Amino acid sequence: MTEADIEFDMELVRRHDVSGPRYTSYPTAASFDTDISEDDFRRHAQQSNELPVPRPISLYVHVPFCDTLCFYCGCNKIATKNRSLADSYLDHLEKEAGMVSSLFDKDREVTQLHWGGGTPTFLTTEQTDRLMSILSSHWNLSSADERDFSIEIDPRSIDARGIEHLASLGFNRFSLGVQDVDDQVQQAVNRVQPVELTESIIKACRDTGAKSLNVDLIYGLPFQTKEKFSKTLDKVIEWMPDRLSIFNYAHMPEIFSAQTRINEGDLPAASEKLEMFAMTVERLTGAGYVYIGLDHFARPEDELAKALHDGSLQRNFQGYTTHADTDLVSLGVSSISSFYRLFTQNEKTLEGYYERIDAGELPVIRGVELTLDDCIRREAIQQIMCRNELDFDSLDEQYYITSKSYFNEELHQIRLLEDDGLLEMTDSKIRLTAKGRFLARIVAMVFDTASQQLATKQRFSKVI
Ligand code: SF4
Repeated sequence: MTEADIEFDMELVRRHDVSGPRYTSYPTAASFDTDISEDDFRRHAQQSNELPVPRPISLYVHVPFCDTLCFYCGCNKIATKNRSLADSYLDHLEKEAGMVSSLFDKDREVTQLHWGGGTPTFLTTEQTDRLMSILSSHWNLSSADERDFSIEIDPRSIDARGIEHLASLGFNRFSLGVQDVDDQVQQAVNRVQPVELTESIIKACRDTGAKSLNVDLIYGLPFQTKEKFSKTLDKVIEWMPDRLSIFNYAHMPEIFSAQTRINEGDLPAASEKLEMFAMTVERLTGAGYVYIGLDHFARPEDELAKALHDGSLQRNFQGYTTHADTDLVSLGVSSISSFYRLFTQNEKTLEGYYERIDAGELPVIRGVELTLDDCIRREAIQQIMCRNELDFDSLDEQYYITSKSYFNEELHQIRLLEDDGLLEMTDSKIRLTAKGRFLARIVAMVFDTASQQLATKQRFSKVI
């Protein structure tokens, strides 16, 4: 079987239609607790410098402001029209960057940079310049062609000159929020974004010679139907972005207050959502896209598709990536950092974040330190999510275990999934079937003891 072999089996997916983590980390953020402090961050940063060959750095910056509120939003953001609020935020980011960067050896290169939000393009040109100069004065930012410097773009908040400016600062990957091109859907989610506007920004991104252009869509929004979403796909296929993320809208107004503005009665039924996803798979693979995993697709020539092919694909907080062998250092409110054996998250409110920085502290609020068992399970889950298989020999060699006895209990459950057609198990590996690839999270969940211990499992979204 090759990575091109996929088969969307509606009945199988329906049978396994439960909630589960997206495994951008293991343990997931739901397992973070407040025992972890800034001292842990400092200790692990120091240890990361002491490796025989320290890993490169992946730097994430969270910009929490948005001009308007999208009603489906589940992100940590502040809706405001007041651009000057970002000045004070940048003052604090500058102090945080100073404190954090002093913990790392100066020659460690930043090979991956990502600005996310919120809306990074909320910043004015001057504020954008200031943020990049804060980063470049504290970190060794790579200028190699292989660097991945990406930014999330809201096409409503930038023009062609702005995109050109971002490219001149070193960004070579752009990710555009689109969600749906239908007028009624856009109005219902308070994100009115004319197609012509999106197209002009796509053209501007392409004109910079960017390495890759990603477009985000969401299915399951109010007033979406299979027919309407098919028209959105027509448009997107015409644009031919290098990567596509097709997220499943999870309606959880009790957790995400913005979603209280969405009328539940306007949402498509679960069965129609599944049909939308099945249609998406068929349309995109028919147009030449490779199914990467979960809800991600890429052109065959894109690095993600190549990494899937050669087995080097990884997953981190930014989703599927080719640069996961890095230490992830994150700046800004609510952002998450990750070392080999530690995850930390910053204060989640702006007030809390400012208070800690003003007191001269790193704003770490919670996290988790990984045990050896966590590391073994993380590796098993990564292999399933990124390679569609679990190779027992590689796990045995890496961790000096005998996987088949170590996971004796888990393998009972794996056999049940095998009987149901999700995977095949041999003496040396578990391999997802063409049908099972859409249910990788179900297989990964078997190895996830951390989530099984949580009382908050219902906070995860549905696996499809
Ligand atoms: S979806 Fe994105 S642009 Fe919309 S409110 Fe949320 S963070 Fe802001």
